[in-house]
Amino acid sequence: MRILLRLLGVSVALMSFSPRLSPAQESAVALGVPRYDLTVRIDPNAPRMDVSGTMRLRWPSAGEADLQLVLSHHMHDLTAAIVEPQTVAGPVELVVHDTAGGSTTWTVRSHSPIPAGQELLIRFACSGGEHDGVLFHLGPTSSFAGAQSVAWYPTTKDADGRATGSMSFWVPNGYTVVAPGTSRPLDRQGEGPQFTFDLSRPGFLSFAMAKYEIVRNSGPDPVSAYVLNKRPNIQDYVKRSGEVLSLLTKEFGPYPYGSFSIVEVPHDIAERAGFEGASFTGYILVDATDLDADFNLAFYGHEIGHQWWGNLVTLGGERGRDMLDEAMAQFGGLHVVETIEGAAAGASFRRDGYPGANWHQNGAGYLMFAAAGLDHPLDDMPGGVLAHELADAKGFLVLNLLSHTVGADRFRAILHTITQDPRNQQMTWQAFLDDIARRAGRNLDWFYDEWLKRAGAPSWNIRWTQVGMTLSGTITQQAPFYRSSVDVAVTGTGCRHTVHTVVIDGPETHFSWRVHDTVTSVQLDPEYLVPHWTPALRAEATSLAPALHAEITFWSGKLDDAKAESRHALANVATPDSYGARFMLEWILGQIAMRERQWTEARTHLEAALESPSRRPYSQMWVYIDLAMVGKELHDTALLRDVVNGAASTDALSGGRSGKVAAVRALAKDALTPE
Ligand SMILES: [Zn+2]
Repeated sequence: MRILLRLLGVSVALMSFSPRLSPAQESAVALGVPRYDLTVRIDPNAPRMDVSGTMRLRWPSAGEADLQLVLSHHMHDLTAAIVEPQTVAGPVELVVHDTAGGSTTWTVRSHSPIPAGQELLIRFACSGGEHDGVLFHLGPTSSFAGAQSVAWYPTTKDADGRATGSMSFWVPNGYTVVAPGTSRPLDRQGEGPQFTFDLSRPGFLSFAMAKYEIVRNSGPDPVSAYVLNKRPNIQDYVKRSGEVLSLLTKEFGPYPYGSFSIVEVPHDIAERAGFEGASFTGYILVDATDLDADFNLAFYGHEIGHQWWGNLVTLGGERGRDMLDEAMAQFGGLHVVETIEGAAAGASFRRDGYPGANWHQNGAGYLMFAAAGLDHPLDDMPGGVLAHELADAKGFLVLNLLSHTVGADRFRAILHTITQDPRNQQMTWQAFLDDIARRAGRNLDWFYDEWLKRAGAPSWNIRWTQVGMTLSGTITQQAPFYRSSVDVAVTGTGCRHTVHTVVIDGPETHFSWRVHDTVTSVQLDPEYLVPHWTPALRAEATSLAPALHAEITFWSGKLDDAKAESRHALANVATPDSYGARFMLEWILGQIAMRERQWTEARTHLEAALESPSRRPYSQMWVYIDLAMVGKELHDTALLRDVVNGAASTDALSGGRSGKVAAVRALAKDALTPE
């Protein structure tokens, strides 16, 4: 499913791949995670890799499913033989079970009977890497593979790629390998440098390899950047990632993987491999265009958050999909923004989104999903792009509200116990919810019923009057009702500002407070702690729902449908177009044309977006990035110059916070530099 995620545009700021398990969890626990000793020889110029080694696993007991090995179609020529115990040693027969989903599954047949539950050591070898896949590419400038999307070594059906053990990589001179686990000292004795890593906690095996320059930051949790080109901002990336890592360590529990690395992938290769940011065990792959931009706190908070949620703790079962990994990672992003940049930045992230992040990954965006008819209960999301985006729009807000409901300190303490319990390497969503309620000593069924088991958000209206020094009024709530403890900000003449708390429960809640001057405004939930409708947000959501729907159709890979939807919506944009609907629709049409490599048509749509009467400033920076890519394809230096100037002035107008000007400049640089 994750494969679809970046049939997407370059505009998917907070998108990442996080490991996802297939629904064979019970037997995974029963059969265990194999332990590997892996040798990987990579020839990036061929391109090709040879993977060989041993895996230690257990022969199934009576009642368990057959032992099955899985290998991606990107690899081939699999051979396997039992080496231990000697009594059953010898080649095994691999009987093809199925070839669906981009990999082959074989049932392992032994020539002699194997006692049930017998531990086995199997030697294997395979080769491949000639063709690109999702999170999979071999080549001279950059190579990487992640088992969460491509089984590049034989794995068992039940472990689904998770493993412990050691990996040794033989690579040509000049290359460096990044991989999960503790790295052993570099061995230069053999035919080329040999990099070896030991992974003691189960994880997905992966690697990245290129001729990196390495920038390090020392500290309790060392952070490094493995980049293809040094940039002036890279030391800042490393330093600030270190701050994020230590903040999230306080929030989520000890960082499990020793060091953390940011690894650069050239833009065109990242795009072909289907990601903008991909979170692996102990490191993330990042598109070069993102590294050209300023450090984005929400993006790195999210991606580093995946180290705990999606790598250390993984979801067992289908229920709660994208909540335990994606929404928790986004909750981490919100936490670091609020802690480092303050309460107002947190409130603005919750309601309208973080600068430079995706336009709909916030409360207002969630309401657009609802207005577009794309809402689902968080407990039971449909999978694919939609679940991912709903988790990033509403899911994290509900987790944040849960933290407030339980108490932030207590919630943090509970998260620590969850991440430190090895049994939670695979955890069902229900177990997570039960753990929180039990450790909080509270019955949270009402919260789970209202916020997880049904779609939607509360819709409130407030009426108030002031008589003398008494302010009184009523908050009405449309059914279905939510129980919420909500701040009410009362502002008076002279800008006096007081905050009261009311518990809204049911159709009407009355309040009456003493005030000290003439009240000028009364605002419900000014920090947007509770996702809810307001008249202004409803108007915005209604206006942008068609654009959001078309975008999700586009991201789901249905280009023709997305085009038809966008054109239809474009013909029906309301006047005045107060929320930038025309701008969004033209941008989506531009992105579709880019995907179709129709550069002139893409240019027409992107320029029409920029000429729309109302625009959305942070999204507008992404339009400039897209237009810079189109300008490069068209070799149009005049266009590129306009794009660079337009991006700089738009950024200045929106307070210089987009962080994308350098990325636009970097894209345009080669074409604009005289030879
Ligand atoms: Zn994510």
